[in-house]
Amino acid sequence: MLRFSPALTGSLSRRLRDHMSNIVSSARIHSPHSNTTSFITTDLERSIMDQLEVLPSVSRLSDHVVRVLGQNPGKFTLQGTNTYLIGKQNPYILIDTAEGRDEYISVLDSALRETAKPSNPNEPDVSDIIISHWHPDHVGGLPSVLSLLRRLWDERNPSLPFKPPRLHKLPQNSDEPVIAFGATNTLPSIISSLPANAFTPSPSGNPLHDLHDFQTFAASGLRVLHTPGHTSDSICLHVPQDRALYTADTVLGQGTAVFEDLSAYLKSLNRMLNFSEGEGYTSLYPGHGPVIPKGKEMISGYIQHRLEREAQILKVLNSPPPRNGDSDDAPPRWTTWTIVTTMYAAYPESLWLPAAHSVDLHLKKLQEDKVVRRVSGELQHTSWEVIDILSSSPVDRKSN
Ligand SMILES: [Zn+2]
Repeated sequence: MLRFSPALTGSLSRRLRDHMSNIVSSARIHSPHSNTTSFITTDLERSIMDQLEVLPSVSRLSDHVVRVLGQNPGKFTLQGTNTYLIGKQNPYILIDTAEGRDEYISVLDSALRETAKPSNPNEPDVSDIIISHWHPDHVGGLPSVLSLLRRLWDERNPSLPFKPPRLHKLPQNSDEPVIAFGATNTLPSIISSLPANAFTPSPSGNPLHDLHDFQTFAASGLRVLHTPGHTSDSICLHVPQDRALYTADTVLGQGTAVFEDLSAYLKSLNRMLNFSEGEGYTSLYPGHGPVIPKGKEMISGYIQHRLEREAQILKVLNSPPPRNGDSDDAPPRWTTWTIVTTMYAAYPESLWLPAAHSVDLHLKKLQEDKVVRRVSGELQHTSWEVIDILSSSPVDRKSN
């Protein structure tokens, strides 16, 4: 099962808590960007928000890392988006820019004047901004962060030319959808709206410097790990001095994370585990929620949680399907929807639709693994059959 921080182990039963955190996380990127209906009942929402660990707006996590909260708490973002200033002294690297609330800029301003004040006044506060992935709650603050950095510099060095920061991101495939989970990719329009002198372009003239897997930032030793799954462009960053791994939204400080592609996601989680053996990290710095001191256990818990869900789905698929109502000769088959309504029979119906999204991603992975086959139908009416009971049994046995 998944491990939870003690703050979330209050009155909700473990099962419900486990499930609700899935729903919270899976709804998390549905909603802030659209009018999508919230799938969570208000009482449960409140209950979950009340049980989140309170995080200070600015926290020095180590000699090298200061965490600044995005001031955008909510049922979809937990305590808000975490942004991190990396480095022992300025110029720092800033990881992510939150969603663009004015309150965040005030908090980042005071963090850069007090907690992470410049020891090299003739150097800028921030030399590099690394964007972990395209979601709006990580990139929306870019314009206002750049204005703040300019303002701080002009105040300190009115007569010296400003060295604007470099912006780094893993390149996205051009054929990738700009809308996922109801969230629109606002990054291209944000980038094109930036004044040309607000950032230092790449040597080829692009606003974004392309990150690549295993790239290392010399001064800080920060190392990029491409970990697709939450989104295809998601990265983690190894912070060697802290023996920590920044995980963005791939692993969250509380609850479980949502993903676009389960096969890629599980591969990334396993890659992160292997990386803990080689390069060495103990704790995780997530994109939302508190520091996770036992990183490896948390990642193993995430993997276990997904395998258990997969086993539950296979168990249902291997049991006799419900009859097709009035229908004729077609043999009864499980559909995504009947799997969901069977697995989640004990939960309110309002939770079935978001659960169907997750079950659908599991079924797609099982299809990729050649464990199940899509027979017919579309969306939640898609019907499925198990291809080979023997090949699916190892996972199934694990759960029993
Ligand atoms: Zn995200």
